[in-house]
Amino acid sequence: MNYMEQADKVMIKTYNRFPVVLDRGEGVYLYDVDGKKYLDFAAGIAVFSLGYNNKKYNDALKAQIDKLLHTSNLFYNVPAIEAATKIVNATGLDKVFFTNSGTEAIEGALKVAKKYAYNKDNTKEYEFIAMKHSFHGRSNGALAVTGNEKYQEGFVPKQFRAVFAEYNNLEDVVSKITDKTCGIILETVQGEGGIFPAKKDFLEGIRKICDEKDILLIFDEVQCGMGRTGSMFAYQQYGIKPDVVALAKALGCGVPVGAFVASEKCSSALVPGDHGTTYGGNPFATAAVSTVFDLYEELDVISHVKEVGAYLGTKLEEMAEKLDSIKEHRGIGLMHGLELNVPVGEVVNKALEKGLIVISAGCNTLRMVPPLIVTKEDIDEMIKILESCLV
Ligand SMILES: *Cc1c(COP(=O)(O)O)cnc(C)c1O
Repeated sequence: MNYMEQADKVMIKTYNRFPVVLDRGEGVYLYDVDGKKYLDFAAGIAVFSLGYNNKKYNDALKAQIDKLLHTSNLFYNVPAIEAATKIVNATGLDKVFFTNSGTEAIEGALKVAKKYAYNKDNTKEYEFIAMKHSFHGRSNGALAVTGNEKYQEGFVPKQFRAVFAEYNNLEDVVSKITDKTCGIILETVQGEGGIFPAKKDFLEGIRKICDEKDILLIFDEVQCGMGRTGSMFAYQQYGIKPDVVALAKALGCGVPVGAFVASEKCSSALVPGDHGTTYGGNPFATAAVSTVFDLYEELDVISHVKEVGAYLGTKLEEMAEKLDSIKEHRGIGLMHGLELNVPVGEVVNKALEKGLIVISAGCNTLRMVPPLIVTKEDIDEMIKILESCLV
């Protein structure tokens, strides 16, 4: 069968896919159906932190498959309780709701803020402040706070739009607060927008004003969470805590699972009947989450990210200084971007031909979000290939 022709016949074309049919993975490498090998610096978009085909991870999932895959949320199940406990301990927040994706985690977080505001004064008018160049997902609610016309066009009616402020501009955020503002939502490090880490005084200022006005602060750590920036969650490097955090991507390392995690104060706004899901938090997905946390600890993933992340940062900084094709390097931990002076799509395609997977992000930026187990040798190999695509 010609897979790509068949795909175009039977699948809705919402993606311009690369002409590669992936087949299997091993560590930081992927192989296509023809056996061609790729060094993967995208990790399924910041998902596969532990690398492909990790034996312990696979064995844990196989064991859960043989035991129990699904229960519905009408019953308790042990893996969900264990996974939620690990998330509570790691986030420093109080209560978890499991979802099937990042988008749904955002949906839930927005509902928490609405209900919290509603409980205060029975208001039915809510406003969110979100950031320009943000990305929060593709459902109607998540799209409404996604600060990018490209994604909203045709789907988000004007009256549903959130108010958008400039990222890292505290004054701009403050100027947009009204008595209807129920939540401020932002990515601690903007991913799709082009890899922009938040500034410390920006987050501190927002935390302060949210406390003063009893507005909920929602962090989207779907992409930058789970160790990617060199701490379990990026906000932990800023010394502040959100009221709600949205997680997904690396949370299950390949099994589709997300979560929103809230402080006691606002999680109690949701009562039985307010929110639900059939699959969310099923034993298979949460066994994955639980195993991910165990393996992070066993492999000391956070220390490793700090070390190799600094190495990758230095290498990219050196390359940015040397090559005119690079306008700017930005990044933190193992989440890096190179804003280019040449079309990023062409560089991504060239790299793919040479067996390196990198992806793009907003503002003509080349994005690197490798598996977190990547080594310095892998980074050297990546730099060699990438440099040959950028000269
Ligand atoms: C990927 C992403 C989402 C959406 O997650 P899905 O699992 O694709 O629904 C939301 N926010 C951020 C920051 C993301 O990177």
